[in-house]
Amino acid sequence: MLEPTTATMGPWFAFVRKRFDDADAQALCEAAFSVNYSQLISGTDLTVHASQIEVLRDFVRRRANGEPVAYIIGTKGFWCREFFVSSDTLIPRPETETLVETVLPFLSSKLRVLDLGTGCGALGLTIASETGARVLMTDVSCDTLRVARRNAAKLKIDVRLKRSNWYEDIEGSFDCIVSNPPYVASRDKHLQNGDLLFEPLVALDGGIDGLDALRRVVGEAPTYLCAGGRLAVEHGFDQADAVQTLFQSAGFHDIKLVHDLSHHPRVTHGVLP
Ligand code: GLN
Repeated sequence: MLEPTTATMGPWFAFVRKRFDDADAQALCEAAFSVNYSQLISGTDLTVHASQIEVLRDFVRRRANGEPVAYIIGTKGFWCREFFVSSDTLIPRPETETLVETVLPFLSSKLRVLDLGTGCGALGLTIASETGARVLMTDVSCDTLRVARRNAAKLKIDVRLKRSNWYEDIEGSFDCIVSNPPYVASRDKHLQNGDLLFEPLVALDGGIDGLDALRRVVGEAPTYLCAGGRLAVEHGFDQADAVQTLFQSAGFHDIKLVHDLSHHPRVTHGVLP
């Protein structure tokens, strides 16, 4: 496919749209040309600089190589905000918005929330900004925490961040614990495909049955939750029964399952008596 010979936005946008789906082409062009969507579609005749075309060429090469758009442009929308992401963080997904929705009605500014394995911080930061709750966000990786800290600073959301492998370095008790832990089974072929291939395995791989991290997050939660506290976790679409059993074994009551927008069982939550 031949590149446009003019340095105007319209032909370059059309060129990228022929190669990728509309949403990808739009995001790549907006980022390369530093424009928003309406500028992109109304600015067909706008001249773009050679350096911007060079950036777009690099974006197109990387996308053609399978790299997720979010890593190429460095951001991803979640809830109503844009979050920095890097190859040290999972790319926030709409499924995790279901987890946010699940806990929001139970939270308020006086409550303490722990977000385990925060990644870029989308979950914990959204909860903090929507409710004013006092949120502690943790991750095992310092590089990942750096991205979360950058997001907290950019969005001016007041949270605490701490390096911890699940609960290992956590003290105190919380009114609510949330987590989107790795839950894909090690041998799941999806790990070798698409976006997942580029994402940090430590954030995806949940061991042989995908439940290693969930066993820890749920099993140890009672030590860190106050009486009446709530645990809410995201899990695989086929893990609802197993996760419910983990909640029951850990002593949780009032255990509920929530489906995501694709109607998959996705979030389980329960209360510690
Ligand atoms: N929802 C992701 C996927 O299946 C997995 C996220 C996770 O393991 N926490 O692509």
